[in-house]
Amino acid sequence: MLYSQLFPKASKQAPKDAESANAKFLTQGGFVHQEMAGVYSWLPLGLRVLRNVENIVREEMNALGAQELLMPALQPKENWIKTKRWEGFEVLYKLQSKIGGEIALGPTHEEIITPLVGAYVKSYNDLPLALFQIQNKYRDELRAKSGVLRGREFGMKDLYSFHKDEADLEKYYEKVAASYSKIFKRLGLEAVRARATGGAFSKFSDEFQVLTESGEDTIYHCDKCKVYYNEELVKNNKCTEGHKLEGGQKAIEVGNIFKLKTKFSEAFGLKFLDKDGKEKPIIMGCYGLGTTRLVGAIVEANHDDRGIIWPTEVAPFASHLVALFGKDAAMNKKIFAACDVVIASEAKQSREVLFDDRADVSAGEKFAVSDLLGIPERIIISEKTLTQNLIETKERKTGKTAMKKL
Ligand code: ATP
Ligand code: MG
Repeated sequence: MLYSQLFPKASKQAPKDAESANAKFLTQGGFVHQEMAGVYSWLPLGLRVLRNVENIVREEMNALGAQELLMPALQPKENWIKTKRWEGFEVLYKLQSKIGGEIALGPTHEEIITPLVGAYVKSYNDLPLALFQIQNKYRDELRAKSGVLRGREFGMKDLYSFHKDEADLEKYYEKVAASYSKIFKRLGLEAVRARATGGAFSKFSDEFQVLTESGEDTIYHCDKCKVYYNEELVKNNKCTEGHKLEGGQKAIEVGNIFKLKTKFSEAFGLKFLDKDGKEKPIIMGCYGLGTTRLVGAIVEANHDDRGIIWPTEVAPFASHLVALFGKDAAMNKKIFAACDVVIASEAKQSREVLFDDRADVSAGEKFAVSDLLGIPERIIISEKTLTQNLIETKERKTGKTAMKKL
């Protein structure tokens, strides 16, 4: 990709009102564009990162044996009445239809997936079953803030599992938790599992929290039990076993998993015929992961004062080729030719290159853009390196430089 062609270019100034690192760098770098509070366009560079995140999540969900589907954002009001969430779900968008009636704009998909599975699953032979999607969610958040961390339209992977009994749910729930740990590792994030309230249906849920100062949540740690707790569970600074809690650390909730048990199956009469000929309610679990929030969390956890430091697997490009042209046309031609050689050699290793091919832009300006965009490796070709038949490389993360043969 030629940087001269890229839409849009990084901006020289950071946005004035950015209150967090992800809002600042993602906007200034041209990864996202804010349309209104909590609503963003994902620009070509940002979309590459988001797709990388989604694909890692998708691969790990497939590895779990879950099947991908795509459900609608427009959802029937009746379904939300059935679960008593038409009034109870605080941030639900309610749309007025021109042909009459109201429609829910999906903030989550239990109200769709439960009757959907009920239309097809009848017997113990059909279970267990796991279905997921990666889709935009809509929530009328009162305080949309912190860049892409809290949006009113945002990306989520939501997985739903269906089981014959609670023991099977428990087993699957732990498999999903292990899969989440793999995902965070690949995303270059350190996330801890924290206990949080489970809602009406079970005592606890589990959250996955990235420890960073810019987080909205506060979590505590019990050194004895080796368990993290979300603040909402913490009373008198003690864990459930009565030990003193440590911390009060800020964190970003990137995932949340729940044992729904029969909460939704009862509302929709979701049952199966068991081996013993008896009809029983299907036991459910749900597992959310915020894909757009993850991009924000990655930036919060991986940046310095000059810009983003993308972890390898999510980076929009593998390398950032920076050509430094001078006044000598013949030499500039040679630099271009050398750049072609580098791009071809990177392509052979399946590495995509962002090539800053602009003339009349100073080295300092190109390096500042490169630091801001945060691509893991920078490759510099200039008259100085070429006369020695060399290229210079610089790691964004460590700042380590090296000279290599062209
Ligand atoms: P929060 O407590 O942060 O409002 P939640 O507990 O309501 O989130 P869930 O319904 O559990 O969120 O959604 C699953 C995941 O979706 C969350 O863990 C988070 O990563 C992501 N998510 C939820 N709300 C938002 C939002 N407004 N913007 C971006 N991502 C979100
Ligand atoms: Mg949550």
